[in-house]
Amino acid sequence: MANRAYNFNAGPAALPLEVLKQAQEQFVEYGNSGMSLMEMSHRGPIYEKVHYEADSLLRELLGIPSGYKVLFIQGGASTQFAMIPMNLLTPGATAAYVSTGSWATKAIQEAQMFGQVSIAASSEADKFMRIPSIGELNYPSDAAYLHLTSNETIEGTQWAEYPDTGSVPLVGDMSSDILCRPVDVSKFGLIYAGAQKNLGPSGVTIVIIREDLIRKPELTGVPTMLRYDTHAKADSLYNTPPTFAIYMVNEVLKWVKSQGGAEAMAALNADKAGLLYNLIDGSGGFYRGCAMPGSRSIMNVTFRLGSEELEKQFAKESEQQGFVGLKGHRSVGGLRASIYNAVPLESVRALTEFMQDFQQRNG
Ligand SMILES: *Cc1c(COP(=O)(O)O)cnc(C)c1O
Repeated sequence: MANRAYNFNAGPAALPLEVLKQAQEQFVEYGNSGMSLMEMSHRGPIYEKVHYEADSLLRELLGIPSGYKVLFIQGGASTQFAMIPMNLLTPGATAAYVSTGSWATKAIQEAQMFGQVSIAASSEADKFMRIPSIGELNYPSDAAYLHLTSNETIEGTQWAEYPDTGSVPLVGDMSSDILCRPVDVSKFGLIYAGAQKNLGPSGVTIVIIREDLIRKPELTGVPTMLRYDTHAKADSLYNTPPTFAIYMVNEVLKWVKSQGGAEAMAALNADKAGLLYNLIDGSGGFYRGCAMPGSRSIMNVTFRLGSEELEKQFAKESEQQGFVGLKGHRSVGGLRASIYNAVPLESVRALTEFMQDFQQRNG
C-alpha cells in the first residue's frame, strides 16, 4: 500500500500489514469452505481449529505454564474491572490495588462497588508520572488479590518488574503491553488484556487465569456471563464468541511467532522506544518526557512541548505529514506516540525525523 499512514493510535491501533492482507484474502471464502469464517457456526470444526490455535499460540508465546486457563471474553478490559472483584472477592474480604493512573483508577472505582478496597501504593502525588517501587507496596496479607496496571496507556508509564506477592494472587491489566516482552506468567493469578492494542482488533478480551481461582463466585447474584467458571468450563464457547476478533488475534499471534516471539518483540520495542526517548532527552528541553525515567513505557511515549499552542501546532503539522494519533489523551493533554508491537521501526524513524525538523523550525 503506497499511502499507509504512520499509525501511532492508542487503541484500536496499528495491525501488521501482512495480517491485514491475509485477512483480506481469506475474508470472502475461508479455505475451500464456500463461505466466510464469519458465516460459520462457532461449533463447527473449521472455526474450532482457529479458536484452539489462538489458545495454544498464546500459551506458547507467553510461556503460560500448565494450570492456567486462557479465556476469550467480550466486554473489553472495562468489563474485567467488574468481573475480577465479582469473582475473586469473598464477602468481607479486601482487594488491594496499586493506584498508578487513569486505568488503575477506573479499576479501583469498579471494585469499590463490590467490596473493600485497600490502596497498596499510589503515585497520584506525582501526577501518576511514575510507577511505585515494589518496596512501597503495602497491602493486607489476606487480601483477596493485588491488582496492578502493567502499562498506563494514557500517562505512558510501565512496570519494569512485577512484585512477588506470595499467597496473594497478583492480577495484572496488560491491555496495552501484553506480549510486548517476555513475562513470567507464574507470578500472576490472573492477567487480562483487551485485544485492540497489542493483539488484534477490538471485540475480544484475553483472560489468563490460574485454575484455583476459577470457582463459583462467593458474592451473590453474579450473572452467568460474568462468571469465569462459565467461560472456563466451556472453553470460551458457552455462548457465541466474537469469532472474527479471535480469528484476527490468531493471525496476529502467528505474525508475532514469525518475527521471533516475545523476545524479538522486546528487542524491537526497546529500539523504537529508545529512538524516541533519546531524541526527547537530547532535545535540550524542547521536548520533555512526561513519565519519570525508570517508569517510562516502551508502548506509549508521552511528551510535552513548551506551550499548548506549540503542541497543537505539532499535532496539526504531524497529521499533514501522514502521522496519525499523536495527540495526547484528552484527560492529560500533551502528545503521545503509541508504539505497539505492530508499529514498524520505520514509522518511528520517520517520526524522529519529523520531530527533529519541527524543533529546528520552532526551537
Ligand atoms: C484500553 C485500556 C483499557 C480499556 O479497554 P476496553 O477494552 O476499551 O474496555 C483498560 N486498561 C488499559 C491499561 C487500557 O489500555
